[in-house]
Amino acid sequence: MAAVRMLRREGNTVFLTDAGAVGGNEKRELEKLGVLFEEGAHSPKAWECDTLVVSPGVPSTSALVVGAQERGIPVISELELAFRRCKAPVVAITGSNGKTTTTALTGHLIGASGRKTWVAGNIGAPFSDIADSADREDVVVLEVSSFQLDHIDTFRPAVSTILNITPDHLDRYGGDFERYARSKCRIFENQRGSDVLITNADDVVVSTMSSDSGQRLTHLEISLEREVAAGGFLNRDELTIRTKNEEMHMPTEEVPLRGRHNLYNSLAAAVAARVMEVRSDVIRESMASFEGVPHRLEFVREIDGVRYYNDSKATNVNAVWYALESFNEPVILIAGGRDKGNDYEPIRGLVRRKVRLLIALGEGAEKIVDDLGDEAREVMTVDSLEDAVQTARALAESGDIVLLSPACASFDMFDNYEHRGDVFRRIVGSL
Ligand code: ADP
Repeated sequence: MAAVRMLRREGNTVFLTDAGAVGGNEKRELEKLGVLFEEGAHSPKAWECDTLVVSPGVPSTSALVVGAQERGIPVISELELAFRRCKAPVVAITGSNGKTTTTALTGHLIGASGRKTWVAGNIGAPFSDIADSADREDVVVLEVSSFQLDHIDTFRPAVSTILNITPDHLDRYGGDFERYARSKCRIFENQRGSDVLITNADDVVVSTMSSDSGQRLTHLEISLEREVAAGGFLNRDELTIRTKNEEMHMPTEEVPLRGRHNLYNSLAAAVAARVMEVRSDVIRESMASFEGVPHRLEFVREIDGVRYYNDSKATNVNAVWYALESFNEPVILIAGGRDKGNDYEPIRGLVRRKVRLLIALGEGAEKIVDDLGDEAREVMTVDSLEDAVQTARALAESGDIVLLSPACASFDMFDNYEHRGDVFRRIVGSL
């Protein structure tokens, strides 16, 4: 819809095609914009165009996309469309996990410098809604998914960041991890010269796929495991940001976000902010005041010494790994939902060490019990999130953590992960 709006602002003729149903609000808006549409199926009329703009929800293998390509019609993503209209430099962030947190934090740090900063993409406003409003002096900080990168052509951010690449969304890439990884790496394919690429040096996939990029662009790295020549790293209990012969230091205890994963996110955001010439003292101060993003390891409430955390956004196994890693206390883990082909092997050890009680729910419950049940000290299956929280409340002891970190999508029981997280917060709030 944002793409439609932007194209209409420019006076283009737009036709919208949706294999599903078009919602009532959208229909009214399309009418107002003077845009014809079809729903329920894509007809050949969809190919009567100069350019096909695909929503991230449309797989590259769909007959609509393949048919357009066969007819020589350029197929671009909304990201590419908006980028072509954007005068401001773009800081683009991708990865399997941590995109939203890092995008919000990067926007917060750059915004604190006084420069007008637009935070857009998968977070906040769609890029197309703001791309033509941003000025040359502004900065656009964008959260970018692999689906949007699948159909770029000229997209060239001033700064791009790849946080990590771990299995996710493999259903959309024919089960092919390498294809998914290659999609993410397209974020820097057009970068040259003084453009900056920030990658996670501790992530083997990211490092391997970006290893020779330094010859054509400026490559900075982040690491928690070793000192890097340029970028950001952890030095005992201090984050060091090293750019252009300059260093800034920040004690990790000043980083308000919990967990090792958030040190990666903080390093990535601070390096990007330094590249955009935000002063070190501004970065330190504004980092300390960042409040985090809802549904990402979000502290909800403490009751009788038990702390409840909402990590509804943990829709894959890797995110749960980091969530569990963040706690030293015994954990009551609530997990389950729609399984996306999960492999629980990577978290077996952490579940063994940390999870006192595993509460499984939703379509994926049986697999969770099968794969992790013998690692947790105790395991239970429940029918609803309400039951899960009530069970946790009944069995928790002072000092425990109750953690909703599902490892699965939410669509079996909820509209989306926000809905799931909101319901969790509400139930916990009413205990
Ligand atoms: P994304 O936008 O990529 O989905 P979010 O910032 O929304 O990332 O976080 C999604 C989930 O991943 C949350 O459960 C969060 O705790 C976890 N997470 C955040 N940052 C990282 C990271 N750098 N590595 C692994 N997991 C992370």
